[in-house]
Amino acid sequence: MKHRLGKKRLLFGLAFLILLYSFWLGTQLLRFSPQRTNVTPEKSPPHEIVGVYHIHTTFSDGLSSPDKIARIAARQGLDFIILTDHGKPNLRCLESQGWKDGLLLLAGSELSVSRGHLVALDFAPPRRPFSQNAEDAAREIRANGGFSVIAHPFSKVRWSWGEEVEYAGLEIIDADTMFKKNLLPSLPYLPALLFKPGFYLLKTLERPVQTLRKWDELNETHVLYGYFSADAHLFYRVILSGFHLHVLLDAPLSAEFDTARSQVFGALRQGRFYSAVNAAGNAAGFRFWAEGSGSRFPMGSVIPLTSASSLELHVLAPFSSAVETRFIHNGKTIRSAAEKETSVVAQEPGTYRVEAYLREWSPLTSDIPWIVSNPIFLRKDEK
Ligand SMILES: [Zn+2]
Ligand SMILES: [Zn+2]
Repeated sequence: MKHRLGKKRLLFGLAFLILLYSFWLGTQLLRFSPQRTNVTPEKSPPHEIVGVYHIHTTFSDGLSSPDKIARIAARQGLDFIILTDHGKPNLRCLESQGWKDGLLLLAGSELSVSRGHLVALDFAPPRRPFSQNAEDAAREIRANGGFSVIAHPFSKVRWSWGEEVEYAGLEIIDADTMFKKNLLPSLPYLPALLFKPGFYLLKTLERPVQTLRKWDELNETHVLYGYFSADAHLFYRVILSGFHLHVLLDAPLSAEFDTARSQVFGALRQGRFYSAVNAAGNAAGFRFWAEGSGSRFPMGSVIPLTSASSLELHVLAPFSSAVETRFIHNGKTIRSAAEKETSVVAQEPGTYRVEAYLREWSPLTSDIPWIVSNPIFLRKDEK
């Protein structure tokens, strides 16, 4: 009798805990709806398009075919995706480029080189495989008309830094690493995958401290653009919904494939893009630019700073409230603002960039930037 009573109590306690847990998770999920803006398509430049960079398919170690991934991305309203299957390069992946379901499917290749993983983009296929040596590979990619991005520098296959920097960019954060690294602490939110996959993705994120620091350090002497990367191999529906590149074009995206392709890669080469965790809120409409001597310079610009001139840096946030924007100069925050539009005067040479944070309740913890701009470089001796 006593034994049965004990068992009953245990079951009752267990049911109570499950109820409590469901209530806790349920209230969080109900509370969460990604912030949205009513962005109307722009009639004047810049024309903003949104896509995902760094995706693996069945052409290397990904689980889905390019066609299937393109369908998922198109359904999510993305304008483009960039496939990056492993290879030296991966020719089959490159051949899959084209328009699919109204989505621009682009491809590069992820090379395993002496320093780590390097993503090659917008190159003409080489006559023989790219070199195993990192610096040589970067030079060969450039000689073939392309550019390269350092993949996941502080996770998975870590990048070993050398004296020479031959690269056009680096990845700031990738969803795949976050997913695997924080599987355990995000376990209580696992059921959210069934109802709001974006919510679960947000719960796996942490601030990429090392990468941001290294990026700022490198940009004191180089020009490197930062990328949010998916590095998706599976769970495409979840991963594609989270980390996006917002690319700013001078003209609407062309319907002609070759033109559209060079529009997107051209903007990436010039740093005319920003990265955003769109699973937390739609970041479309964010702008960062500089004004001075009667000219306007877009994000990514390298501007010569003569002693007589100073520049004004402007930021336009996507929402009028609940956003904090931070101006960062050579890695240090010089101003933080809550207004929709803010500016600072830049007198010192150096690298200026912006991080924006969501300050209303959000599953993103408060130290994770929702938007990371590309820098504007003010250089003393730049011609
Ligand atoms: Zn990799
Ligand atoms: Zn990869």
